Amino acid sequence: MFKRLLLSVATFVFALIAAGQETKKIMLVIHGGAGTINRSNMTADREKEYRAALEQALHIGQAVLVKGGTSLDAVEASVRFMEDSPLFNAGKGAVFTHEGKNELDAAIMDGKTKKAGSVAGVTIIKNPITAARAVMEKSQHVMMASRGAELFATKMGLEIVDPSYFWTERRWKALQDELVKEQQGKPQAELERAPENRFGTVGAVAVDQYGNLAAATSTGGTTNKQYGRIGDSPVIGAGTYADNESCAVSATGTGEYFIRWTVAHEIAALMKYKGLTVQQAADQVINKTLKAVPGADGGVIALDAKGNFAMPFNTEGMYRGWMGADGVAHVSIYGD
Ligand code: ASP
Repeated sequence: MFKRLLLSVATFVFALIAAGQETKKIMLVIHGGAGTINRSNMTADREKEYRAALEQALHIGQAVLVKGGTSLDAVEASVRFMEDSPLFNAGKGAVFTHEGKNELDAAIMDGKTKKAGSVAGVTIIKNPITAARAVMEKSQHVMMASRGAELFATKMGLEIVDPSYFWTERRWKALQDELVKEQQGKPQAELERAPENRFGTVGAVAVDQYGNLAAATSTGGTTNKQYGRIGDSPVIGAGTYADNESCAVSATGTGEYFIRWTVAHEIAALMKYKGLTVQQAADQVINKTLKAVPGADGGVIALDAKGNFAMPFNTEGMYRGWMGADGVAHVSIYGD
């Protein structure tokens, strides 16, 4: 009798543990931008570099999750790594504005509390994603821009660099090419929209062992942007969003459309109010809604609190990858 009771208590405890483990599936998904990425405009060496960088970004974020760290810490760590790499259009590899400057945007959001922080148009903050997190955690505000954001970051003790830190030959050359095309009479809007001018934005979404989601995005925006143009990345609900009840999203693409179609929130809303899966919701917005709009090109990474995710894009390629608890890196670039 006592033995049987003991057995059923043990079964109950095991069932509880198993149920608990089911909701504790960690997952990290990242992107490094979408655009005209195909084998014809990629050298083998460059492809190797991108794959290695994406893998490292995955390992860095996943290590945080495996150690019991939060999804916020994981997405920040992965994005910081990509910001420090000259390969991506974020931080060190940011594209140039029309005036030959680097103006960076970034955002982060916590799916548990729905707290969010973002910075826009900053020029001296080495890691804009960390500044966005400081806005979220250490201020009353959600979004800070330009000089104000820089003053705040300085006050918070974040790493400040000379604007020349962001200069890279490759991005400078891209701006010069655009300026030449501009002189030849191509309309500004068309130049900014050209997908080859802006791939490389970075983002990460993660779920931690506590079942909490987070999203982070960082970018230099679009080559040759003018007049303090801000894209979708730092706009909560457009390029970045996280809500434990639906999903975490980080977007990349022509920001103007992602703002107008509130892409990240639209995906979350389709899940929350229409009961779509994360794959269905992300596909709907990227491959149906936006695909029907000329110029609305790009992609997203989207992840729910159970670890299900989607990585749709309507461009030729998107740097992307994911890693679960087993630590195996899955990285893809093209449309296969
Ligand atoms: N979405 C970014 C922006 O418009 C650019 C990109 O993702 O490539 O600023």
